[in-house]
Amino acid sequence: MGKRMPQIIDGKAISAQIKDELKEKAAAMKEEGIEVTLAVIQVGNDPASSVYVGNKKRACEYIGIRSLAYELAEETTEEELLTLIARLNDRKDVNGILVQLPLPAHICEDKVIGAIHPAKDVDGFHPRNVGALCIGQPGFVSCTPAGIIQLLKRSGIEIAGKECVVIGRSNIVGKPMALLLLRENGTVTVAHSRTEDLMAVTKRADILVAAVGRPRMITKEYIKEGAVVIDVGIHRSEGGKLCGDVDYEEVAPLCSAITPVPGGVGPMTIAMLMHNCVESVKLQE
Ligand code: NAD
Repeated sequence: MGKRMPQIIDGKAISAQIKDELKEKAAAMKEEGIEVTLAVIQVGNDPASSVYVGNKKRACEYIGIRSLAYELAEETTEEELLTLIARLNDRKDVNGILVQLPLPAHICEDKVIGAIHPAKDVDGFHPRNVGALCIGQPGFVSCTPAGIIQLLKRSGIEIAGKECVVIGRSNIVGKPMALLLLRENGTVTVAHSRTEDLMAVTKRADILVAAVGRPRMITKEYIKEGAVVIDVGIHRSEGGKLCGDVDYEEVAPLCSAITPVPGGVGPMTIAMLMHNCVESVKLQE
């Protein structure tokens, strides 16, 4: 038997499709006099954060979402930041509030996340939204895992009844990913740094989501033949090339479908943030 060609899941194309759908929705809302507004707060000028914030602003422009930028000095106190959030919570013309993480060490992230009104928490990090996801109530869902569900659905990949293994249990990716796959009726296992015999666990997976944060850790020994592999990792190697948590060259020939890095999960995160912004209007009604 020759090598099979996996389906390459095109996150760039799927995210573009979602953004175009949102652009139409936003235009229709504008005709009804509703202008979606996102407030983006950045504290300090971490270069990576500045790139992310810039990308978010550009996506807003493309879709027709008004964005308000708050660029605060590194020395901003926690109290000052909380005061700004309280002001934005009260503003009827602001639908979404996003605080770019990480924050400087003197500011407590949990406190800041908890201060954002849950109906404006477009990142889906507020404990109320996390709890809502957990018990199947409406609310905002963390953008990267929500994007992965869209990648699967729009690629025609069935989740219901499938063995799903998520490697990683972070609050932003691993945990909400597991909850979303469960909501889609997958049989879900969460593996993490203390998992014994990781290979034995991942070899069961029909759908494997790698959110480990270790470059090319997932080699062919971790994969069941015919699996769908979703690579969340983003790493820049010495040469400046991007790679993921999965050893793509080695793993791809074994898979039925796989996401590349770049161009897989990456572009979906902002698309889902834009989705949350547009949806926020409904949630606030
Ligand atoms: P994290 O560091 O918070 O979590 C990593 C998880 O992996 C932990 O829960 C840990 O238990 C687990 N882990 C670590 N070593 C392990 C091992 N040897 N075996 C099994 N499990 C192990 O990271 P995160 O924020 O969840 O992000 C994961 C990766 O995804 C990173 O590379 C990050 O850059 C990337 N990321 C990408 C996007 C995107 O938009 N594509 C968004 C968020 C994060």
